[in-house]
Amino acid sequence: MRTIQLFSFSLILFITACHPVKTPATPERILGQLKVGFDIDDTVVFSRDNFLIAPQMSDDPDQIDFGWINTHDSLHSVIIKPVADLIEFLRSQGHEVYFITARPGINGEAVGRYLTRELGFPIEKDQNLFFATKRKDPKTGKKYTTKHEVISELGLHIFYGDADNDMVAASIAGVRGVRIVRDPRSVKAYSRNYFGDTIAAPVPGAPYTEEKYQQFLAKGVGPYGETIFPLYLLPAEEAE
Ligand SMILES: [Mg+2]
Repeated sequence: MRTIQLFSFSLILFITACHPVKTPATPERILGQLKVGFDIDDTVVFSRDNFLIAPQMSDDPDQIDFGWINTHDSLHSVIIKPVADLIEFLRSQGHEVYFITARPGINGEAVGRYLTRELGFPIEKDQNLFFATKRKDPKTGKKYTTKHEVISELGLHIFYGDADNDMVAASIAGVRGVRIVRDPRSVKAYSRNYFGDTIAAPVPGAPYTEEKYQQFLAKGVGPYGETIFPLYLLPAEEAE
């Protein structure tokens, strides 16, 4: 009896070994299908007002309340139409679209519901919407993006984003980074992490002036060698 039990157990082990369980990290590939990632803020969504209003709604204006921000896009944010059109184009060609944001995931389901309503297809937290918050590097002590970890895990081919961090994340993950040009109103409201900082006085961490920034846009290439998707090629004086 014991021999039969042992034999059955070995047989189950053998069959299991022959058919390993597929994890979500190694999904089936479809021939010719691209997996394309998008940052959210200032890439898919013009959310400046949501971020500007948030401190006024908080008991502690020095702390950004992402739980509040994540539930108020429907009131204060606007979808960036040319990017929505690009996403529709990609999906109509059979490619898969994912969203990766550095916002903390608190109330992240609401962001999914907002994007679902606006873009017209199901977008769900931890399915095709990921919250990759910054993390401190133990060696340098510097807080940095973790988007490249999600990009690699999902096996993306292209990543669109507006910030310098997005281009760095794409490069670390070894995928093509494409820069979405940040709306000039957002550049005015928060200029850091965007071509260094085109508003700050030139320093090594922010060497590009407005004039040099416009040259990058005109040539369609950024400081990380990324290509530029020119949505907001407005002269600076047209900005609010
Ligand atoms: Mg962004």
